[in-house]
Amino acid sequence: MTKPLNTLQLQLEYSERDPEAILELAFNTFENIAISFSGAEDVVLIELATRVTDNISVFTLDTGRLHPETYRFIDQVREHYGIEIEVLAPDPAELEPFVKTKGFFSFYQDGHQECCGIRKVAPLRRKLSQLDAWITGQRKDQSPNTRAHIPVIEQDLSFGSQENPLYKFNPLANWRSAQVWETIHEYDVPFNELHRKGFVSIGCEPCTRPVLPNQHERAGRWWWEEATQKECGLHASNSK
Ligand code: SF4
Repeated sequence: MTKPLNTLQLQLEYSERDPEAILELAFNTFENIAISFSGAEDVVLIELATRVTDNISVFTLDTGRLHPETYRFIDQVREHYGIEIEVLAPDPAELEPFVKTKGFFSFYQDGHQECCGIRKVAPLRRKLSQLDAWITGQRKDQSPNTRAHIPVIEQDLSFGSQENPLYKFNPLANWRSAQVWETIHEYDVPFNELHRKGFVSIGCEPCTRPVLPNQHERAGRWWWEEATQKECGLHASNSK
């Protein structure tokens, strides 16, 4: 069992530290730790993590509904860093009956939670049950409604428990989008080619669209739903 961490104390100590310091804390504290990868922030995490550890373990969720550009991006990252990326797929025992009864686009009628639950949350839960800690690229300003208060370190009680603690590091919590992109350009980090086509926050193909100038980045996700619902369940604690 993982030794409990005093996350409140660590949050106080690290809340203003730079992402490398938070990554160093994460990798020095946990061996059984992985980076959750999907977008621009996450590739920056990988870039920064290569500076503090050789123990880089990365996973991503293949919902089966991603853009072709996103699959190419995942492979580009794999090749650029010479790393393995574990690709997690939905459980066919859950997915097949869902698609059989509700088809491919039920989320436009009854919301994205059920589909995200099967295609994203369940595979993530399986993966996190094997880890002591995970690292995400969440930023506070990605979503004023759900992410404004995310700490740089927290105990993840959505996917872990008091008995089997799971810790979550959000090293980029205080960064703004511009800092992510400065790092991408400065270090020539690969990025999803959809960003060149007006996409900012990129998820599954049917649930993501480009945003207009000055629109908030999450406006292109699940645009038919209320802003307060724009989380897929991967960061369930943000919505509590
Ligand atoms: S983002 Fe859309 S397609 Fe992807 S898992 Fe969620 S509801 Fe399904």
